[in-house]
Amino acid sequence: MTIPPRSLSTWARNISPSPTLAVDAKAKAMIAAGQDVCSFAAGEPDFDTPEHIKEACIAALRAGKTKYGPTPGMDSLRTAIADSYATNYGLKVLPAQVVVSAGGKYSCYLAILATCSPGDEVIIAAPYWVSYPEMAKLAGAIPRFVLTDDTNGFKLTPAQLEQAITPQTRLLVLNSPSNPTGAVYTRAELAALVAVAVRHNLYILSDEMYEHLVYDGVTPTCVATLSPEAEARTITVAGFSKTYSMTGWRLGMLVAPAAVAKACVELQSQMSSNPNSFAQYGALAALTEKDQTAASLKAMLAAFDRRRKYLHAELNRIPGITCLLAQGAFYLFPNISSFGLKDTEFCARLLEQEKVASVPGSAFGAEGYLRLSYATSDEIIRKGVERLTRFCAGLKRQS
Ligand code: GLU
Repeated sequence: MTIPPRSLSTWARNISPSPTLAVDAKAKAMIAAGQDVCSFAAGEPDFDTPEHIKEACIAALRAGKTKYGPTPGMDSLRTAIADSYATNYGLKVLPAQVVVSAGGKYSCYLAILATCSPGDEVIIAAPYWVSYPEMAKLAGAIPRFVLTDDTNGFKLTPAQLEQAITPQTRLLVLNSPSNPTGAVYTRAELAALVAVAVRHNLYILSDEMYEHLVYDGVTPTCVATLSPEAEARTITVAGFSKTYSMTGWRLGMLVAPAAVAKACVELQSQMSSNPNSFAQYGALAALTEKDQTAASLKAMLAAFDRRRKYLHAELNRIPGITCLLAQGAFYLFPNISSFGLKDTEFCARLLEQEKVASVPGSAFGAEGYLRLSYATSDEIIRKGVERLTRFCAGLKRQS
């Protein structure tokens, strides 16, 4: 008699794999197989990593910087990150409060593991980035969702937050500029939310991954700068992937109160050790060779802004679609509910019939929308919009 293998763990059985990565992989596989796909799926700049960043990494490799390094990241990089907070936001950060990790995603997970215990509740505004709820669950915590929509600019209000808080609430996740909606909260809006979090003694995970990708003269807010109380409870997550087009490098960071940072380092020491040694030299160049970095970022932002305006205008010309003009990140989040199709069905048919890849809103906890990333070429956006227009024209509208 053969003994059947034991079942997989609770964690393995309960996790939903990342839908953004799944759609991206599918679109890339179709393209590799020679199909003419217009992909709006990936949250990934289509620009190459700037040359000076690549050169610094190559030089580090040649110089043999290929060994284990300090678990929280190398001192020079932690110092450069601390300095960047002083320069960008006037926030005094000690290098010991900085932890560099294998991507912003990993930094978010460390922040959750360092602050949440089994049974704790984590408040997440929907639409949310796909990984927050799964990470909370992996920590044994319970995600509590608060739904926002396009009638309020996809922004959580203090009253909604207040209502969602229970004695078990431990952590509030904030993400401005937002993935997937591109919404950017004003400083006053964030201050009002933080005041509620402070009153209830919550930790705040502020995912500021898209801090530098803002348009229309908007200034991003670093939540930790809102008040000393905010600073004392906020774990700021940021990274190199989006701003410097370094997605594949897997380098992210967090800045936290000293005790939380220390806990994150201890977790990281058991889970992954130091972030990639030679990649860190590229990240250091991104922060220290300021003129070259600023020039690359400026060129990328100009392209994103042009595409944002074009895509927004074109989407709103399609009968049945309405779309807000987001002021940050590189996503638009059009409402497609008038077609009366489930968004998963809409996306599947759009990919099948017209070879246009997008991510359904329900992947982000918001049925009835699509996430379109405009971090792709003008040509693909133009072609993709044409196909989307044709696709929508073939659907029956409910309202
Ligand atoms: N953050 C990017 C996105 O949302 C990359 C994929 C992921 O990690 O979810 O598309």
